[in-house]
Amino acid sequence: AANAQSAPSEARERHAELAELLDEANWRYYVLDSPTVSDAEYDGWMREIRALEERHPDLRTPDSPTQRVGAPISSDFPEVTHLQRMESLDNAFSQEDLAAWQARAQRLIEADPGPYLCELKIDGLAVALVYEKGRLVRGATRGNGRTGEDVTPNVRTLRDVPQRLTGDDVPDLVEVRGEVFLPVKGFEQLNEQLMDAGKAPFANPRNSAAGSLRMKDPRITAQRPLRMIVHGVGKWEGTTPPATQSEMYERLASFGLPVSDRYKVVETLDEVREFVEYYNDHRHDPEYEIDGVVVKVDRVPIQRQLGSTSRAPRWAIAYKYPPQEVNTRLLDIQVGV
Ligand code: NAD
Repeated sequence: AANAQSAPSEARERHAELAELLDEANWRYYVLDSPTVSDAEYDGWMREIRALEERHPDLRTPDSPTQRVGAPISSDFPEVTHLQRMESLDNAFSQEDLAAWQARAQRLIEADPGPYLCELKIDGLAVALVYEKGRLVRGATRGNGRTGEDVTPNVRTLRDVPQRLTGDDVPDLVEVRGEVFLPVKGFEQLNEQLMDAGKAPFANPRNSAAGSLRMKDPRITAQRPLRMIVHGVGKWEGTTPPATQSEMYERLASFGLPVSDRYKVVETLDEVREFVEYYNDHRHDPEYEIDGVVVKVDRVPIQRQLGSTSRAPRWAIAYKYPPQEVNTRLLDIQVGV
């Protein structure tokens, strides 16, 4: 049986060791855009530290890497406080995990949480755009979820990002979240250019997108073929907010924002599974890299009812596909293995 009072010193030491490894990895990944360990290794450490905290709950302190989002933010950019907290996503690695997620939601609301919106998990970085009276006033990275980096001049160079929203029912204030990414072709070309110039290539499309967006000189960002797809909102004021995730996407599209055309609303978990399997077999159909599927409860009132943990919403889950080889190969080049 677990000792809930106090963890033995070996567990405490291993916990401290893992926390340090994860903090260091977060710094390299989120701040330097240059990871030195693979995602699989990182995820392994995360699983181990979670398991330790399951057994010894007193190790689960608010500053544990399991309780936080992202990393400390870089001093290269001004800090901004998000109007609403930006979160991460919990993961599912199997059909059982997916069923457990659904069962938990069902238990919490004592009803079927469906329908579900299924969409692709784009391997980029999360960015929040703030529009006041339809004008883009700010673009910021997720950072630690509460505080992000102000990258407004950089975000303004993205051709997918409208400077002004269009339509009659544009809210007075809206915070739109989405993924900034480099299409796979753009990523490969950029790495070739970097290597030709004797510079280190990026480990994967996500790091290349983060590195390209977070340039001190926005003129360099402007030269990178960055794209954006929006997948959520934070604050929404002045008009009636959408009642479902799918209605949200229709309305964001009507404002001129870039919405994916690869999402699907389904009624049952079996149909969610079909979507997951379809894209597992068609992983390279999109022009961008995906690392899984995101499943969201479609109805916004149910999303509210389910709420969030310290780092992720309970109304959404990321079904992660097994990692791909190309990443590790490039990572090996980068770290000189
Ligand atoms: P995550 O990437 O697993 O999932 C959360 C993010 O998914 C959101 O913030 C959002 O930006 C993004 N997303 C993409 N498509 C989306 C969609 N359709 N709807 C909603 N969100 C969508 O979580 P994370 O906290 O950003 O990163 C953690 C992961 O990053 C780890 O599991 C690990 O694989 C990797 N990582 C690796 C290292 C390393 O050193 N190799 C270090 C830190 C993190």
